[in-house]
Amino acid sequence: MQKRGTKSAKRHLKKLSGREARFRKNTNHVISKRLVHKAKATRQGIALEELRHIRQRTERTVRRSQRSRHSCWSFAQLRFFLSYKAALAGVPLHLVDPRNTSKTCHVCGHCAKENRKSQAVFCCQACGYCDNADRNAAINISRAEVMRPIVSSGSFSGCNQRSA
Ligand SMILES: [Zn+2]
Repeated sequence: MQKRGTKSAKRHLKKLSGREARFRKNTNHVISKRLVHKAKATRQGIALEELRHIRQRTERTVRRSQRSRHSCWSFAQLRFFLSYKAALAGVPLHLVDPRNTSKTCHVCGHCAKENRKSQAVFCCQACGYCDNADRNAAINISRAEVMRPIVSSGSFSGCNQRSA
């Protein structure tokens, strides 16, 4: 339809994109509601990576033509929904420094670009631990906030060190 470029095709595309936006908005509402509900029920906080990193990840996995649509705004919306829903529910929401979360081994703390074998796979070059890359990163993110009060000297620029 985009190729044809006729008036009706354009109109139809516009309608589709509106529907898509509403769908995404609704999905973000549902996701944020569930996350906040679960966090409250289990008396936990929510940790999120800063926006920048999400966009970088998306750019690597999504086709060039879809980058703009998939980039940061959808996540920004989710973060916005999360922040006010969390505030209303009294759930703490933390933004985590995204540096090195995806290339640091959550088991031994080794940080290297080579640990990230591909978009999906994480394999630690030091201890041999292998996992889904997003899962490994998520564990690092969940620890980062807990570790922050301990590492209070402002030396958070390096790789995450395992505390125990
Ligand atoms: Zn390791």
